[in-house]
Amino acid sequence: MTCPQCHEHVPAGALFTSTGLSHIVCEKCATHLKPKPFSAILVFVLSFGLAELAMLGLKKFGAAYWMTFVGFFVVFAAVFILGAPALLRLQAKERKANPVATG
Ligand SMILES: [Zn+2]
Repeated sequence: MTCPQCHEHVPAGALFTSTGLSHIVCEKCATHLKPKPFSAILVFVLSFGLAELAMLGLKKFGAAYWMTFVGFFVVFAAVFILGAPALLRLQAKERKANPVATG
């Protein structure tokens, strides 16, 4: 991921804070960033899809019901953590300086 403002690399650690994806701050220029909606959806769909596959796979191998759930969440988290830094594209958060023009 790169910062759209200063084009510096944004470390993956910036994503995984207690405030989540909505409060990403560039360490270099302190710009408040947020993931582009499409890339966020892509990461989510990919995590969900692979987790679903893992769950189906575990079921096929006769795993217990709770194990398929554990497998789902483990794969979901793993793909999200690995995929988010690679796939997410960032954009600067809009300031509230420009009021919405009506009419
Ligand atoms: Zn920056």
